[in-house]
This record gives sequence, structure tokens and C-alpha cells, in this order.
Amino acid sequence: MTPSPERPKSHLFYQTRRRRPVLDQARGVYLWDVDGKRYLDGSSGAMVCNIGHSNERVLEAMRRQMEKSTFGYRLHFETEPAEKLAAKAAELAPKGMERAFFVSGGSEAVESAIKLARQYAVTQGEGLRWKVISRFPSYHGATLGALAVTGYTPMTAPFEAMMRPMPKIPAPRAYLDGLDPHDPATGAHYAAMLERKILEEGPETVLAFIVEPVGGASTGALVPPAGYMQAIREICSRYGVLLIHDEVMSGGGRTGKFFAGEHWNVDPDILVVSKGFAAGYAPLGAMMAQDRIVDAVLDDGGFIHGYTYAGNPLACAAGLAVLEEIERSGLMANATAIGALLKARLQGLMQRFPFVGDVRGEGLLLAFELVSDRATMTPFPASLGLYDKLVEIAYSKGLIIYSRRTRGGYAGDHFLVCPPMIATEAHVDEIIEMLTLSLAELEAEIGPLLDR
Ligand code: PMP
Repeated sequence: MTPSPERPKSHLFYQTRRRRPVLDQARGVYLWDVDGKRYLDGSSGAMVCNIGHSNERVLEAMRRQMEKSTFGYRLHFETEPAEKLAAKAAELAPKGMERAFFVSGGSEAVESAIKLARQYAVTQGEGLRWKVISRFPSYHGATLGALAVTGYTPMTAPFEAMMRPMPKIPAPRAYLDGLDPHDPATGAHYAAMLERKILEEGPETVLAFIVEPVGGASTGALVPPAGYMQAIREICSRYGVLLIHDEVMSGGGRTGKFFAGEHWNVDPDILVVSKGFAAGYAPLGAMMAQDRIVDAVLDDGGFIHGYTYAGNPLACAAGLAVLEEIERSGLMANATAIGALLKARLQGLMQRFPFVGDVRGEGLLLAFELVSDRATMTPFPASLGLYDKLVEIAYSKGLIIYSRRTRGGYAGDHFLVCPPMIATEAHVDEIIEMLTLSLAELEAEIGPLLDR
């Protein structure tokens, strides 16, 4: 997207110099830029805007709260929205998790989980435990603690000298390893890697294992193989390792359950949620833990951790209204039904385009992956930058999808297709239509490569 010449210099900066269209307004599943161009939000931002944009009931709840107060410092006041939201979160969370710790986003939630785990271990006389095992690839956040458990080399490399190295095991990408994800032996195969890593590190030094129940940007909606989630739960319990479910992206209903861990009936010791929790209406996240963990830390002098904006009443009022909207409008059931339809239609694209190598995901947390050879799942050369190219082609046609290249280890181009949970069949048609045109355009570009 080239900025128009008259566009003023920006005094903002993010990752790159790339300019983007200026957002004017957003309604439902659509966004409009200031030039009047319409975009279908096929990725709900970064898998955030789960209930769609500008929901009137949420806006009204926020207006009501704004009239009362927009800030109450947690060490001075309790607030009604924070209390109500925590009670609602306890209702939705696994049994035994009665309290929530509020933060402003996913990275803060992961930091909080790691620090609570560590403080709990110390209260238990297990101060030797500090290692947090995670998977490669994975994404758990950009702050240094969350980055240390992130398995994503392009984001971690420059900072490695500043972080304590944390052990990693491979994510269970059965589709790449030629294994059947429905065979429980596959789940057992990948779970055994966790046990071996715990033994290799010394179980007395391992604090926690952090996992995205359904993968996000790093693995492209990776659904674990049969038996995996139950097996890692059992292994963690056996070695006194705390199991942390990172539901920053998978939580909030997008997979058809409020927490994706529910698909496998496993309860973590600690869980974090953020993006869909207030669905983009306010920066908000939560960390929840089993009562025995929270009580042990609070009884031992308190949790040595906190953020200024924790429990912000306006953010909590938004979060509460979002959760009410999900229930009221049956959005999780819609995510299941429309997700199944969208997945089937994406699978249909595999017939038309041989370079679409895999379609995966659960509910409306879906992704497809491009490969130069489907039989061997060989990725395209990184230098082609297809992950970026296809996103830009789709963007020019008015469809937003999300990609992130996973370099280091396997290099794959995968794309998340995750519209808001209010999406209808007509929106699915529209997404597939624009995606088909976009893939055809990409095919014309990469055709010579495919013939070789
Ligand atoms: N964990 C997961 C699974 C995520 O997907 C993300 C964000 N993509 C984070 C943590 C970090 O969240 P945030 O960007 O809000 O800090």
C-alpha cells in the first residue's frame, strides 16, 4: 500500500516504515478506510474482535461506565465492573479457579502466570524450580519474560543474551511429520518429548509447561493430536510441573468453547486469556489459577506483582458486556457452525490450488498453509515472501487475513482466516470468493516455480 503523496509524515512508529490506510470506521465484520474502501475483517484484527465491531450493547455499557468513572486505582478502590467480570470469569473457568487477576494484554497475562507459578513454588519450598518449558514454534508475548518462553526465532534472536534460556520441545505438528493426528499414538509420541525434556532438565528444576491449546499465529491454528492434551496434563501432574494454558488467542469462544482446553476436558493449573476477552473494545486480559496456588501465594505475604491499569473499570465493563453478548447471541454455537462451513470451503480450495497444502483449526480459529509440494509438505523459499504477498493481494481486494512466517526450523507460509464469531454464510461466501481471486493471482506469479 503506497501512501498517497500528500499524506503527512507520521510521528508514530511500530515495527516497520510501512504505511497503512487510515481507518475511518468499523461495523460488524467490516472496516472502512478514510477513502471509503471497505474491508472484510477476515482475521478479526489479530484474532481479537470476536464479537464484531461497534456492538451497540457493548458501547452502551461502556458509555454508562464512562459516566461513572474511568479509573479507580486497585490499591485504593474495588470497582463493580472488575468484581462482576471476575465472578463471570470464575463461572467460565475450570472448576477450582475462583479468582481472576486482570491485566491489559496477552504478554502481561503470560508474565503474570510465570511469576505466580514461581512464587507458588517458592512458598512450597521448591525454590529450585524456575524453568518454564514451552514449544517450538510458539508465541507467548513480546516482553522479556514472555519472550523467553516464546519459540519464534525472528522475534527472540536479538534478545537472547538478555534472557535466561528456557527449554523447548517441538510443537506436535503431525501434518509435517507424516503422522496421523487422529491416532492416539501420535499424541503419545509428542507428549513423550515433554517427559524426556523434564527428565533431561531435572524434574526438581522444572517450574511449568506453557502451551497454546489450539495454536495461534506461530503454528497457524495447530490442533493437538489425539490424546496429547490429556497426556501432557498427566505428565505435568506426575512431576509437580504446573501446566499453563495460554488461551490469549484460543480463549474467548472462538473455537466453539469459551476455553479451548475444554475440548479435551483438561484443566490447567494456570490459564491466561486476553484478545477475545474484551474483543478489542478495551485492552484487557486475565490470568486465573487454581485456588490452592492463589491462596498459597496470598497467605505467604501476597503476590509480588501488579500493573497500574489492572482491573480498569472501563475495560472491565467492556469485558463483561462482551461476555454477556457471547452468551446472549449464542456466538460460540455460531463459531462452531460457521467455522465448520468455512473450514470445508477452505478445504475445497485445496482441490483448485495444489499449493494449498493444509487446512486446519477448530471453530473459527482456522488456517491454511502454502507448500511447493503437498506430498512432502515442502515450503516455498523464504525469499519469495509469500506470507506477505498473499496478505497484500487479499488486502487490495478488500479481505484481511493474517500471516506470520515461522522461520528457524520449518519455514512455512500459513494464513489465519478467523472472522468475527457473528459471521454468516454470506460472509463465508464473500471470504472464499476474495480468497479464490487472491490465490489465483498468486498462482500466476508463482506458476513457473510450481512447474519445476
Ligand atoms: N500469547 C498468545 C498465544 C498470543 O497469540 C499473543 C498475541 N498474539 C500473546 C500471548 C501476546 O499478547 P499481546 O500481544 O496482547 O501482548
